[in-house]
This record gives sequence, C-alpha cells and structure tokens, in this order.
Amino acid sequence: MVLRAKTLELFKSNNMNEIQNKNSKLNISEINDDKEVLNSYPRRLVFELTNLCNLSCVMCGRNDAEFEPTVFDLDWMEKFNSVLKHVEEVTLMGWGEPTVHPKFIKILEKMDKYNVRKYFCTNGMKLDEIKSALFDYNVDLIAVSLDGADAESNSKIRVGSDFDKIINSLKEIVKEKKERNTDKPYINFVFTAMKSNLHQIPDMVRLTKKIGLQELKVVYMTIFNERMLHESLYNSELDISRIFTQATELADKLDISIKLPHIQGEDIAENNYHKKCFVAWRDFFLGSDGYVRPCMSTPMKLFNINDYDDFDKMWNSKEYVDFRKRVNNNNLMDNSCKNCYQSSFANWNNKESFIQIGKEFSPEWKNE
Ligand code: SF4
Repeated sequence: MVLRAKTLELFKSNNMNEIQNKNSKLNISEINDDKEVLNSYPRRLVFELTNLCNLSCVMCGRNDAEFEPTVFDLDWMEKFNSVLKHVEEVTLMGWGEPTVHPKFIKILEKMDKYNVRKYFCTNGMKLDEIKSALFDYNVDLIAVSLDGADAESNSKIRVGSDFDKIINSLKEIVKEKKERNTDKPYINFVFTAMKSNLHQIPDMVRLTKKIGLQELKVVYMTIFNERMLHESLYNSELDISRIFTQATELADKLDISIKLPHIQGEDIAENNYHKKCFVAWRDFFLGSDGYVRPCMSTPMKLFNINDYDDFDKMWNSKEYVDFRKRVNNNNLMDNSCKNCYQSSFANWNNKESFIQIGKEFSPEWKNE
C-alpha cells in the first residue's frame, strides 16, 4: 500500500474514548473551517525532549546550527494535566534523540497514566536498554531512522550508529511482541533519501519484511550546507520515479506499507509555498528549551511555556491565533513557512524544500 498525500488523520487506534472522539471530530471540522480561535483541543502533544543526540549524522541540521544543549523539564508536563484527557496522542520527537533524556522511561510511565497513544522517533541505539519499558508502559508507535539497508551504507551516513545492534534490538522487540501476543508497538523505518542511498529503497523494503516490521517511510534529505549539496535529490525526479516504482511493486508483493513523498513536479501543493498547514490546529509542540513552536522545522517561537499559567490560555493565545491567521496566507505567512521543509507539509516542487543553505532553519537555542 502506498501512502502519499498528507491526511488530517493521525494513526488509527481503537482505544479512544468518547471525550477524545468528540474532540478529534471537532478539531478536524475547525481545521476545515479555518477557525482561528478553537473550541477543540489539539489532537496531539509533541514534546521535544532534548536537542542533544548520541549520533552525528552527516546531513543533520544540528551540524550547521548554533547549539546550546537543552533538556525538557518534567515539571512542564503539569501544564498538560487538563488537556491530556482530550488529546489522542503524545509524540516524543524534535531536534535531538528523545531516548537520551535522563528521565525518558519516567516520561513513558507518566504518559501511560493517560489514555493516549504513545509515540516516539528514535535512532534506535538505545532500544535494547529500554525494551522492557516499551511493554511495561504500552508504547504504541515507534519510528526508527535508518539510512542504509546494510551496516556499511548506514554508518557512512549515520555516523556513530551501529546497524547490527539496531537490527538485533528490533528483532528482540518483534519476538517479544509475538510472545506477548500483542501488535504494539507498531514500528516503522524512516529512511532519509539522498543521491548515494536512493537505490537502496527496495532493499529497505526487503529489510522491513525480513525483520517483521510493517512499514517503511521515505523522506527526502534537506541540505543545510554546501558540503552536502552533491547529495541533493533536487532535479532527480526521473531516478526517483524509477526507484519509487520498483519499491512500490516490491512492497505490494511483500505486503509492506510504504510512505513516499511526492515526486518533484507532482506535489499537490502545485505552486504554493507549502501544502495546507494544519500543525497549529492538530498539534501543540513544546521545544526542549521551553519555547512553543508551531512545528519542529521552524525557527519561529510563539511563546515560552511559562508565559501562560494554563493550557487554554496558551492554545488560544494571541500568538497562536495570529499564527493560524497567517500560516496559509501567501502574503502574510512567516518567511520560514515560505521556505517550509517539514517533510509532510513542504512543497516538493520547490527548491527550498530540498536546499536550505543560507536560510534560517533552526531555532536560536536558549536554555532558560
Ligand atoms: S514550517 Fe511548514 S509545517 Fe511548520 S508551521 Fe510553517 S508551514 Fe507549517
């Protein structure tokens, strides 16, 4: 099955209660009606646990941003007590590797007290250490980044990564799922495609099948510095199209879901700056520096978590309402949204989605 266009829906799960279902329905209708002041709550909370990472991937924007280490403060979670009964999902992702947060397991435990889907994105290096917690605290979804279908290709790109260790950890998790007779956590691979690894996508489909995972998601690499320019897939649509066709046919044959970005020239955003962006309706993103941003791929900060004392005031704050008014308006949107490179909302017909050299692409980190 190929999934391409961004949909309003999040991952489907059947454990949502009446309050959550009602909120999600209202939220979708408020997105469709372009409401700026919302009666619904977000459908997911996204917490960036840190901007630190235990790897040093060649393409990572962290290499080209000024960094001051920031770590999510657990006390901030208190601000979300009232809204957690309405949201569907809590996602742990952002600029750094969430599992290196010193209280990562404690955070999973806290989240498990609520009826929410628990989702995190990881480079997979600490999956062996946290395996029991995944089952103890009922983690629903894990996205594991891997940029090569074999150890050599992967470690050239994901410097410091250990392919065999990650694959073994995943096999152990799949084995334990079988023993416990559970389909959770659902795990997918996320593959960042660039010139040198594009041809490996069919092998990634085979690897997904071999390990017993259900899905492969491919995203294009965005270039942040001249050094990586030779790896850009901008203007490589013929090669991309050929590989995507091969990978799709194979995925169909092996019964693997495959999520692919639009091919340049075919993006549904046509000649707009980006696809219709609904992150400021669907999500509430809190950065590891305590600043609320509309999404992880913008330098723009809306406010600090301590500027408001309760969630309702933040969600319909002047900053959020103003942002909702502007984000989909070509004349009013912020420059970073004009250059949107967020994998789901970027317009892959545009050069800026592939190449961000010289643009302001990361927040100015301040640990407060
Ligand atoms: S950068 Fe893209 S995804 Fe993020 S808020 Fe702007 S338009 Fe939306």
